Amino acid sequence: MAEDYYDVLGVSKNSTQEEIKKAYKKLAKKYHPDISKEKDAEEHLKKINEAYTVLSDTQKRQQYDTYGSAEGFGQGRQGPSGFSSGFGSSGFGFDFSDIFSSFVDDDFSGFSRGFGNSGFKRQSGFSKNLDLKYSLEIDFMTSLKGGKQEINLHRDVDCDYCSGTGSKSQKKSTCSDCGGKGQTISSKKTPFGIFSVQKTCSKCGGSGEIVDDPCPFCNGRGYVHKKSSINVDIPAGVDNNDVIRLEGLGNRQGNRKGSLYLHIVVRLHDFFKRDGSDLYCEIPLTYSDLVLGTSIKIKGVNDVVNLKIPAQTQPQTVFRIKGKGATNVRTKMHGDLYAKVKIIVPNKLSREYKKILKQLSEYEQKNLKKKILDNYKEHIKE
Ligand SMILES: [Zn+2]
Ligand SMILES: [Zn+2]
Repeated sequence: MAEDYYDVLGVSKNSTQEEIKKAYKKLAKKYHPDISKEKDAEEHLKKINEAYTVLSDTQKRQQYDTYGSAEGFGQGRQGPSGFSSGFGSSGFGFDFSDIFSSFVDDDFSGFSRGFGNSGFKRQSGFSKNLDLKYSLEIDFMTSLKGGKQEINLHRDVDCDYCSGTGSKSQKKSTCSDCGGKGQTISSKKTPFGIFSVQKTCSKCGGSGEIVDDPCPFCNGRGYVHKKSSINVDIPAGVDNNDVIRLEGLGNRQGNRKGSLYLHIVVRLHDFFKRDGSDLYCEIPLTYSDLVLGTSIKIKGVNDVVNLKIPAQTQPQTVFRIKGKGATNVRTKMHGDLYAKVKIIVPNKLSREYKKILKQLSEYEQKNLKKKILDNYKEHIKE
């Protein structure tokens, strides 16, 4: 018996198409084999795809809800390579590339185009031998302000002993088979004439050079796999789940250099929350602050924001402070800061405080209560 599709996507039976899509996107990203650290990511992804294929189609979903079976929906068509053809094709109603963020070349030095429109769709974009993935967890404020971060990872780098030559004496000789060209040409006689066939030299593997005394540390390869530390620039405004491609910082095998893909994980903040380029926070105020008005200073991303709370502000009021949100890492535009008023009810009352409040309460009883409750007389009994 197949798993329940709703369970697979972690949504309820009466969830909307939008919720289903959202859940699918989240899971597809989590289990994408190119970035996922989960076990059996590919297997998971297949299940997720299968569930989404049915639930995202109103007709199929109805059938599934009625008969509790996906039989006959043709979901078996996806072979071993099914998941990769599923992405990018229009079958799922959204472009997979919008899951992955891309950065543009000239925005910040050292960062090149990430997963643009084609990056993740073409699986060939990621070179398994040369490219590396790294999940980088950063502070909320670092993600907003940008900064440098040192990361440590294992990768292929030039062998120190032979300076990357692969040769103990650091000398190489010209390949005798191809004369240094790296290619060999052989002639083939056919009824139509003589054809020349060009092939990569098998003796030197195309490099044109031969190592006579292989380096004992790297076995003549010229590179070793070891721990190395890299200082990376975090661009201001980078968001959770963004992927940054650092060209040339992946594995280094002689002249071949791969890219390092940083998968950004931003730690939650105890005061601010982020949604796109906007920031949200709640500001604690007392009852008298709201009635009489006050002003408050919020330590924003780059500066202190002065917020004036006018007299007679209602609880839950949201103030929008323009341009004090996060920076969009691509457009460099600034979002806004939304500050919501929250009333703090004190846990402890001093004798004096209690006395004042009692006086206030008596005054309210005498002068206000009746007026307020009059508006609610159909619902609230005095
Ligand atoms: Zn050769
Ligand atoms: Zn070596």
